[in-house]
Amino acid sequence: MRRQALHLAGRAVEQRLNADHSDGQAAQADCGCGQLARYAGRGTKTFASVLGPLKLQRAYFHCAACGKGFCPRDRQLGLEDTSLSPAVTRMVAAVASMVSFQEGSQLLGELAGVVVEARQVQRSAEALGQEIAEDERLHAQPLEQTPLPATLYLGIDGTGIPMRAAELQGRHGKQPDGTAKTREVKLCTIWSAEARDAPDRPVRGEGSVSYAAAIESAATADTDQTPAAFPQRVLREAARRRFPQTERTVVLGDGAPWIWNIARELFPRAVQVVDRFHVKQHLSDVSKAIYATDPQSARQWAQRRQEELDSGRLPDLLRALRRQADRSDAARKCLQYIHRNRERMRYPAFEAMGLCTSTSVVEAGCKVAIGTRLKRAGMHWSIPGANSIIALRCCRLSGRFQDFWERRSEHRKAA
Ligand SMILES: [Zn+2]
Repeated sequence: MRRQALHLAGRAVEQRLNADHSDGQAAQADCGCGQLARYAGRGTKTFASVLGPLKLQRAYFHCAACGKGFCPRDRQLGLEDTSLSPAVTRMVAAVASMVSFQEGSQLLGELAGVVVEARQVQRSAEALGQEIAEDERLHAQPLEQTPLPATLYLGIDGTGIPMRAAELQGRHGKQPDGTAKTREVKLCTIWSAEARDAPDRPVRGEGSVSYAAAIESAATADTDQTPAAFPQRVLREAARRRFPQTERTVVLGDGAPWIWNIARELFPRAVQVVDRFHVKQHLSDVSKAIYATDPQSARQWAQRRQEELDSGRLPDLLRALRRQADRSDAARKCLQYIHRNRERMRYPAFEAMGLCTSTSVVEAGCKVAIGTRLKRAGMHWSIPGANSIIALRCCRLSGRFQDFWERRSEHRKAA
């Protein structure tokens, strides 16, 4: 019944549009090149719509000056340069931001009865993702969001995603032979944690999380006139969320030096905190390296170190690591890591300030925003393809897709 109803509705729309020849009344129309294009008859094209395929006849204009042609009605209906209706394009964006292109194509068929080949899901989603990426760069003004929370958190992290061989040529990586299999996506996430689930335990605000990410450079050379691409992205996200205007700001990271370079450079007054979850993970890994054949001792050792970390006994923690440093490479590296970041690991002090330190929200952000979609078995990305889908995903996860879509429709109407 649903299929039949949609089919009938589709025929009705088709007939109504095709009976209207007003789009071909003029003999000439303005071409984008500045010259006039000549009416050249009506052309038929089939579009995928939510009502099923629509076979539309539209007036076609050809420009002798630039050799291009166009259908004014396609522009008017938002069908230019595509064979998908705007509503189907939106559905494609929704599925492609969540699952593989193949699965997306299947879901569209099963749930909406819309036939879109996997390849076309990919093409349309990537094209839309690219539009979103451009839109993101143009719209860094603060979003409506009153009142500003007392504290805002900004997390920065990186995660590798599997790439096509051509994207990795000549790059050094972590493979035994020195080659790379992945490229690093750099992610910035901003959230607030005003609520408390226990007197002193901040909880991340539901719906307060926003994301911005891409495969791009984080390092700005001293000779560069402008910051590198990723710091600029962080600045835009911070501006949208009014991070710099917030009374108290916190930057969380896993301890990698590039993260603190960005924090120091962009937000000098922010409190710097190493995500506690990450440090504990690190200590647990070290314990397994030291007690490779004795899991119980490993657990005990890790537990003691984690307690020292929690209670702020960093000198004890560093001493324990130093005792292992001669024998264990992992322990020596961890010792340097904790020593280097010790000011960012003053957890009892941070807790007393009511700050969120142990959430793993940054790592979770990487998994939610990037890993679950881009790091799946058998996937191999190109840089533009990955960046498009990342832009699409960040936009949707940050609750900004509707805004983007409205801007896009306005823009098309104006054109
Ligand atoms: Zn022209």
